[in-house]
Amino acid sequence: LLPGALSDRGQPITLGVMGGGQLGRMFVQAAQAMGYCTAVLDPDPASPAGLISHHHIQTAYDDPAGLAELARLCDAITTEFENVPAPALRKLAESRPVAPSADCVAVAQDRLQEKTHFVQCAPISGVFPAPYTGIETAGQLAAVADDLLPGILKTARLGYDGKGQIRVKNRAELEAAWTQLGGVVCVLEKLMPLQSECSVLVARGADGKTVCFPVQANTHHDGILAITEVFEGAVPVELAARAQASTVAVADHLNYVGVLCVEYFVVDNGAGGSDLIVNEMAPRPHNSGHYTQNACDISQFEAQVRALAGLPLNTPCQHSPSLMVNLLGDLWFDANGMRAEASEQPVVPPWAEVLALPGTHLHLYGKTSARKARKMGHLNITGATVAQVRETASLALALLG
Ligand code: ADP
Ligand code: MG
Repeated sequence: LLPGALSDRGQPITLGVMGGGQLGRMFVQAAQAMGYCTAVLDPDPASPAGLISHHHIQTAYDDPAGLAELARLCDAITTEFENVPAPALRKLAESRPVAPSADCVAVAQDRLQEKTHFVQCAPISGVFPAPYTGIETAGQLAAVADDLLPGILKTARLGYDGKGQIRVKNRAELEAAWTQLGGVVCVLEKLMPLQSECSVLVARGADGKTVCFPVQANTHHDGILAITEVFEGAVPVELAARAQASTVAVADHLNYVGVLCVEYFVVDNGAGGSDLIVNEMAPRPHNSGHYTQNACDISQFEAQVRALAGLPLNTPCQHSPSLMVNLLGDLWFDANGMRAEASEQPVVPPWAEVLALPGTHLHLYGKTSARKARKMGHLNITGATVAQVRETASLALALLG
């Protein structure tokens, strides 16, 4: 699907995305930069991607008329969040190329299927998930192996940013947590001694060609990604190579097409070294990959566009050390904890001071209201050296409080 060409229906080539959040918005921006028309399906009239797309279909994700309209408008369709119903992607795939496929998204939607998939990949990848068990009935709580406690109980579906998971120290807490999560299907995972966390983006074309981005070192606060660092030494070289090889294996084994992100834990191997544990995957670009927008010769969103449109995928080259800071809605509240819109003067973070620092790149998602812990944007920091990036980051973080 060449940019600027006309489709067989005589329309400009149009790329569609299920979901209108910030990831959809940045996909739309990358697609439009290359000359494509775009269409977004998202019920929210103020969705960040819907606001800037050529077409915005405002229906539920499983609405037959909405899906038919998206298929009519688009030459190929992708997704920007994993909770798009797989049957909706299946329906679209009857008439249009859809990448990633409904089957791939379905695996990522369900922590149990996802872990089964990781276990199947382990003989090739050499990387295992944390010890875990599925919990579908109350009876299974009593049968949980002692070895899995202390652990983390996670709902099998619909969890994100640390939501839908509870840490448990013993069986009593496990039973209370399962009730608190509504008695839905869950995964109990052993609590691992994390040294650090990292993630890897891979882009895979329909021809099976894969290209990996450099490995991201991630710091989370309260279960939400806070900072991603990507530069030499952020992740030990040997671990980074293993994480990349594992991510390619995960994508190959699913016959995945598009951009995939796999998250890893770095843990103590008990022998004075480190080991890798595979945590979860996202069938789309990822928050930890935003640094690619300013630090690489191709962003994760351009890679998503290229994979979807069948354009060549070249190995990404990082041209600057980089650090990304997530900008959460908390910044839009004043020191007294007042909502920006409740006070007379809206609370606007000190962007002028932040942008006066060299190598700062602001990305805001155009969300109309700020909530605490809501992802409002991110700040990418680049520089000639790691020391310079770190220095700028500490000044920017001090300004942002
Ligand atoms: P989410 O879908 O919310 O991102 P994750 O499974 O990635 O869910 O968990 C969020 C964070 O919680 C992880 O990034 C990690 O910091 C911590 N965490 C999750 N599982 C474990 C575990 N088994 N051991 C230790 N920490 C964990
Ligand atoms: Mg995660």
